[in-house]
Amino acid sequence: MGIHILDAMSREGFEQVIGVYDRKSGLKALIAIHDTSVGPAFGGIRRWSYLSERSGLMDCLRLARAMTHKCVLAGVPGGGAKAVILDEPGMDLEGAYRHMGMRVEAMGGQFYTGPDVGTDGQALDWLSAETKYVTSTGANGPGDLGGATAAGAFAGIRAGLRHLDGEPDWKRRRVVIQGLGDVGAKLSARLVDVGATVIGTDINVERGQRVAKEVGFEFVEPADEVGVECDVFAPCALGGILHDVTVERLKTRIVAGAANNVLAKSHHGDLLHERGVLYLPDFVLNAGALIRGAFFHLEGRIEGLDSIEHRIETASDEILGESKASGLPPFRVAVRLAEKRIAERRNA
Ligand code: NAD
Repeated sequence: MGIHILDAMSREGFEQVIGVYDRKSGLKALIAIHDTSVGPAFGGIRRWSYLSERSGLMDCLRLARAMTHKCVLAGVPGGGAKAVILDEPGMDLEGAYRHMGMRVEAMGGQFYTGPDVGTDGQALDWLSAETKYVTSTGANGPGDLGGATAAGAFAGIRAGLRHLDGEPDWKRRRVVIQGLGDVGAKLSARLVDVGATVIGTDINVERGQRVAKEVGFEFVEPADEVGVECDVFAPCALGGILHDVTVERLKTRIVAGAANNVLAKSHHGDLLHERGVLYLPDFVLNAGALIRGAFFHLEGRIEGLDSIEHRIETASDEILGESKASGLPPFRVAVRLAEKRIAERRNA
């Protein structure tokens, strides 16, 4: 199937899609700017070996648009963008990231970039050597991004429990965390701190067991976590984990976590809703790092964890309130709300 970039752009209101090729390093990349109507566009660089240029483009557009949704719902005065590097054997990584850095710099602050799948601390250092428009995780950056994301997920879980039970009542709650990496480990510590019972897992069993021991909770073998009876299932590993099989197996009242794109397909969100499971949308709960990065660049300050929690809890409350009133699943309400706000600000 051919690629009709302008068709795809006009359907979803994209402002710019840029193809980047660097003869020297072999870099092939795409940058999509979805929305700069109220401020610069924010989005990380994903490096992935896509099956085709088309699938790289589609991923880039989908992720950029999702970043605009994330910004409007988190109250960030900016919009969404994304870059994807089409990973190929033989590409000179340092040269490729440095070239991307130069391109981002040349955009003059219209696009702020940062980490994503495939773009690690080393890659961020290469980018930072060429541009100031990058969120670095080092000493000159906005601080602990994983901690900010965990704070947002915690606030979303609290909103979900209040929505169902009137109060979080942490001491009576069981929370299962899938993935005990940077975010999952920090979320587990916060939950244990307030008295919740945490059960966690990680496919990196050694790492998971170490976190469980340090923080003080029960570790279960990977794959067993989906069937554990709990109040909250918190996905903090990879996307696509809620599919036909897992949706049937889950024994939870709430799904709320930080992993991006946890629904394998949108209809799995509807399926959860039909089964009476409250699914809080990932793109609302995991905006903590974006909030930190954006305010650091725009206002030169590091947004505190309390404020991040407040922003995400307020957004979750609004979505849950509208979901209750309309009967629609919260993730559908969130998309509708985001699109309404994007239209309003574009018309303003
Ligand atoms: P991470 O790489 O530090 O941790 C992910 C952990 O999940 C790893 O320890 C990995 O072994 C484990 N894992 C992978 N597949 C698993 C599976 N099937 N079952 C159990 N464990 C599994 O990543 P992170 O920074 O903690 O991010 C976690 C999720 O949150 C990711 O989906 C990420 O895209 C999303 N997110 C993170 C941030 C951030 O600030 N770090 C911001 C927004 C969204």
